[in-house]
Amino acid sequence: MRERFSRFMQGRYGSDQFGRFLMVVGMISILLHIVIDFSPLYYIAIASLLFGYYRMLSRNFYKRRRENSKYLELKSKVLSRLPERKARDPYHRIFKCPGCGQKVRVPKGRGKVAIRCPKCSREFIRKT
Ligand SMILES: [Zn+2]
Repeated sequence: MRERFSRFMQGRYGSDQFGRFLMVVGMISILLHIVIDFSPLYYIAIASLLFGYYRMLSRNFYKRRRENSKYLELKSKVLSRLPERKARDPYHRIFKCPGCGQKVRVPKGRGKVAIRCPKCSREFIRKT
């Protein structure tokens, strides 16, 4: 059975990032369709699953690779437009030096401390 399957898949395109994306979109659309009963979702689900399987079984590697690279290009464009999520650091506070504006990172929870700016070596007192 496994051998049969691998023989069947021989020379076929199989899975790639765009294929997995189509499958995920299909699954999510089906689930959403069940939950909110919005019928266009059903067609979106069927279309993306069918297209996903079609691509997997396709023998046209050239076209499939082009679709995949287009998908990856679009994905990186979309991701680069999203606002960058700021990494929260719960252990430090950032202060600006009143002299030169240099940002100084100080451990949190030490009460009032004198901070020396590493750039202009001016000292200032802040509550951490
Ligand atoms: Zn400074």
